[in-house]
Amino acid sequence: MDLNVERLAVSFSNVNIVKDVSLKVRNKQFVGLIGPNGCGKSTLLKSIYKVIKPKQGNVFLSDLDVIKASPKAVAQKLGVVGQFNELSFDFTVREMAAMGRTPHKGMLETDNRQDHEIVTSALRMVNLEGHSERSYNSLSGGEKQRVILARVLAQQPEFMILDEPTNHLDIKYQLQILNIVKKLDIGILAALHDLTLAAEYCDYLYVMKQGQVAASGRPEDILTKELIGQVFDVACETYRNPVTGALGIAYLETR
Ligand code: ADP
Ligand code: MG
Repeated sequence: MDLNVERLAVSFSNVNIVKDVSLKVRNKQFVGLIGPNGCGKSTLLKSIYKVIKPKQGNVFLSDLDVIKASPKAVAQKLGVVGQFNELSFDFTVREMAAMGRTPHKGMLETDNRQDHEIVTSALRMVNLEGHSERSYNSLSGGEKQRVILARVLAQQPEFMILDEPTNHLDIKYQLQILNIVKKLDIGILAALHDLTLAAEYCDYLYVMKQGQVAASGRPEDILTKELIGQVFDVACETYRNPVTGALGIAYLETR
């Protein structure tokens, strides 16, 4: 399933936050969105997953016109892990994960054995099958994030959008979440905070600055010290990881 975003623009009280952004995720690519705080990544993603109505532009998931389609039709195909996942009511871990089945059910249809198995397998994938009766609000930040991921896995989406899914997590859990997502073998668009992880996991990157795409390309082609200096305003050197050969970034003092 491909994502095609065409000339998207979003403004809040006449301030343009996302300006004419076009991007593509082709069949099963893992595409990263990077850029400094406040450049418009979350706003762009929200306008793609229907939380914000864009002022201009189109969003297509293969043939599905996301802006015109019903939320349920979109939720049958698209899974989202947002940036903040606080809850005012408490649910158990299993109840939270089971919510992922909702888009596939009729209004009064209850979960059947197959739904139950899908939810169990989603909890197993994030290593939470032993915690299914725990209360969500009692979990640590990393565990909560894994429950949210289990909910999206139970949704069985054909495409996934993630907004800084590993923020505030220990490196072990950052890697775990990215590994689970990568293994799904579906199209992914993810805003990522950590440039080294973005380089390691992404097939292609879009770099945003002040609401626009400042650069795009394969990580090893575009993550140069010049671009990082321009976009993030820090001095750095790039290097190769001595073990994996992956691109690494060594930050020098901030300017
Ligand atoms: P990022 O995710 O790249 O850090 P955001 O998309 O969250 O950036 O924010 C981009 C800009 O849009 C920021 O200046 C932010 O203050 C502004 N913004 C975000 N949401 C709203 C809103 N609902 N109303 C007004 N301004 C907003
Ligand atoms: Mg954001």
